Amino acid sequence: MKESKIAAVERILDNYLEMNNHRKTPERYAILKAIYSINGHFTLEELNERLASEQKFPVSRATLYNTLNLFLSLRLVNRHRFQGSTKYEACYDKKSHCHQICTICGKVTEVRSPDIIMAVENMHLKRFRKDGFALYVYGICSNCQSQMTKVKKLDKLDKQDKQDKQKSKTK
Ligand SMILES: [Zn+2]
Ligand SMILES: [Zn+2]
Repeated sequence: MKESKIAAVERILDNYLEMNNHRKTPERYAILKAIYSINGHFTLEELNERLASEQKFPVSRATLYNTLNLFLSLRLVNRHRFQGSTKYEACYDKKSHCHQICTICGKVTEVRSPDIIMAVENMHLKRFRKDGFALYVYGICSNCQSQMTKVKKLDKLDKQDKQDKQKSKTK
């Protein structure tokens, strides 16, 4: 039977803690579990909420931050800077992917592009072992686009209205 994802990431943490003679504090495992129960990107606050509500395991911000840094170095999570907010995501066993970021509302969507994945795979880097990549594509989402066209239309109507009033005054 294939080892579950959570068992696999716990083993990575086990190995690291054992090798470095660190104590296996339950906090670290609770945090790891919470991270792998979240689908997609999350902020430090969101992770904290999840820990407090679902796992009944409140931890201090400092512990959370330090643990996330440890998980970053173990490549168990990725950190992103999206439009001024820092977000994390579980990355064990996760394929490299592209992020589509709306510069107006900040919405982040994950997209897969086999062409880009191939291009990075074929990229030759000197004395460097590639582990993965993240790509950000900036633009405007469909919601914001339709919002913008609505505003434009209203502007147009408004102008038309003013012109009509001007005309009727000069008559
Ligand atoms: Zn948007
Ligand atoms: Zn992502």
